[in-house]
Amino acid sequence: MKIYIDGTYYERENAKISVYDHGLLYGDGIFEGIRIYGGKIFRLREHLQRLYSSAQALALTIPLTMDQMETAVREAVRVNGRTEGYIRLVVTRGVGNLGINPMQCVRASVIIIADDIQLYPEEMYAKGIPVITSSVRRMPCDSLDPRIKSLNYLNNIMAKLEALRAGCLEAVMLNRDGLVAECTADNIFIVTGGRLLTPSPLQGALAGITRNVVLALAGEHGIPACESALAPYDLYTANECFITGTGAEIMPVTAIDGRTIGTGRPGEITLRLRNAFHAMAVSE
Ligand code: PMP
Repeated sequence: MKIYIDGTYYERENAKISVYDHGLLYGDGIFEGIRIYGGKIFRLREHLQRLYSSAQALALTIPLTMDQMETAVREAVRVNGRTEGYIRLVVTRGVGNLGINPMQCVRASVIIIADDIQLYPEEMYAKGIPVITSSVRRMPCDSLDPRIKSLNYLNNIMAKLEALRAGCLEAVMLNRDGLVAECTADNIFIVTGGRLLTPSPLQGALAGITRNVVLALAGEHGIPACESALAPYDLYTANECFITGTGAEIMPVTAIDGRTIGTGRPGEITLRLRNAFHAMAVSE
């Protein structure tokens, strides 16, 4: 595997960054996770737009234009001969000194890793998964805005640990108002009374690329869909629930905090959207 760092390719064991990089010292940086299906990079432009918006919000100057970044990502996939897999695109603030001052970092660093993807077992899609609600809250917009896909995932990691301790793979995170935001690495949707509902980015959801595709697909399939404030009560009493993300695609959720959701099996609308999503991803 060849890993791109600032314009040069390194073998995996030699792909290293400085211990003075503020991405390491302070989590000062941003990232994207992108899928490759059948040799095509899924929604690359949307991922790049989110990356550059995250950078803009953090006053982080990416040393490549969006077009140059697109070329670099496509090249990293080609160099590695990848037709299926996952791209991790990271931009760190770069090398500085031991203080937090980002102005001391001369140039941001760009890292592109094109690797295998760890897929969830098919059986989980067939049965759905249980999730819990975490006690760790999603950050409010006046702190690290949850729309920024930053390298600081510690809240999400603490919530993930809570999920794992409870025997689950995902946890729902609430915002400071006690409303549902999303999961630790996935967005969340419910179906109630035939309507598809999902929290808005201002309520703490990352503007997930998969989430956006699902909202568009719902429109094409005549399923009414909109953003909505959701409390844990809305999750518990939903007819269907699923989570979305680049890795998971659409994963049915069949239990939340010990409450069975709907029939306890993946819902009909969930399955329709899952099939539609997968067909579109492999054909795009
Ligand atoms: N929420 C969080 C916190 C995430 O990290 C991710 C991406 N792994 C998502 C939602 C899903 O976003 P996407 O569909 O763009 O992968």
